[in-house]
Amino acid sequence: MKYLIVGAGFSGAVVAEQLSRDTDNEIIVMDERSHVGGNCYTERDTETDVMIHCYGPHIFHADDKEVWEYICRFCDMKPFVNRVKTVSKGKVYSMPVNLHTINQFFGKSLNPEEARIFIEQIADSSIEVPRNFEEQALKFIGRELYEAFFCGYTKKQWGCEPDMLPASILKRLPVRFNYNDSYYDDPYQGVPAEGYTEIFNRMLDRPNIKVQLNAKFSPEMDLSGYSHVFYTGPIDEFFAYKYGRLSYRTVSFEKNVCEGDFQGNAVINYADGEVPYTRIHEHKHFAPWENHNKTVYFKEFSKETMPGDMPYYPKRLSDDLVKLELYQKEAQCLQDITFLGRLGTYRYMDMKEPLTVRRISANFYD
Ligand code: UDP
Repeated sequence: MKYLIVGAGFSGAVVAEQLSRDTDNEIIVMDERSHVGGNCYTERDTETDVMIHCYGPHIFHADDKEVWEYICRFCDMKPFVNRVKTVSKGKVYSMPVNLHTINQFFGKSLNPEEARIFIEQIADSSIEVPRNFEEQALKFIGRELYEAFFCGYTKKQWGCEPDMLPASILKRLPVRFNYNDSYYDDPYQGVPAEGYTEIFNRMLDRPNIKVQLNAKFSPEMDLSGYSHVFYTGPIDEFFAYKYGRLSYRTVSFEKNVCEGDFQGNAVINYADGEVPYTRIHEHKHFAPWENHNKTVYFKEFSKETMPGDMPYYPKRLSDDLVKLELYQKEAQCLQDITFLGRLGTYRYMDMKEPLTVRRISANFYD
């Protein structure tokens, strides 16, 4: 069988790798970029030799042992716990909200049970089922913590009022009543010793996989020679935006290089609305097993995606969901094409999701 896979990010690469196990299959992976790996692409900075996550920080985390073991077949995964700090009104706090954050912010020394009771008292218990991001935050942690850490950051990050955003975005972050300051809850967390690009090179290095870079897909292409197409590009672009554009946020980075250690941590968020960037990432801290005299860091800015910009975060506002349903209806009629990945399904997705190999296999063998 001959397959076409559009996009060499995680979704495309995993499907390619799975299909390549049947040596009779012939697999073409095309990507419009000049490299594999999608937004997970990493390369060494020529000035500092630091491994850079070129499209923003990526920390691999998973709760499924099978997913972890799968990715570890393609790289030397080093344990890495992301311990994010956030700056609010000139003070540095621990993020996500944990016992340290609560005690720092309120100038207290509560124990776990006392903190739980305290937060219960200040949280908005009148909200039963939160309808949006803001209500979710008020229900979880109350107004003061919401305004200090989430309101300004979220307006910068998403370019809209937090009450327009789904509650699910906030649910990505835990609230903890202990001093666990790991950004993620997942038991398996790490960063590949030699970056993410190596994973993709190894996944795609099969005699029956051909990778075509700088190759942009168009639905007008002759697809008749393929048994099936796996499309991981934006679903609205596939249909030439006939029902309108789905909204995305895009990010841009301002690069800086200096001697030594710029901020002493991999990621520091800037919660205040007045600070134009959302966060600063200093990439040598993602690889604490390496030594570098110089350092490279990036200020991250968020903006609405315009035609030509790279779509990063699906906003999924109510208008978007109406359009998405129309696109999905059309997609379902195309028997020989599967839409997958963050852009193909228009979902906020962590790296572990495309790696849930069995689910993907079930999806395309259905
Ligand atoms: N968020 C926030 N302040 C923070 C960190 C996160 O307001 O310091 C909000 C923001 O809206 C973000 C969401 O919580 O989009 C989810 O955070 P996560 O870190 O999962 O977002 P990511 O960086 O992966 O987009």
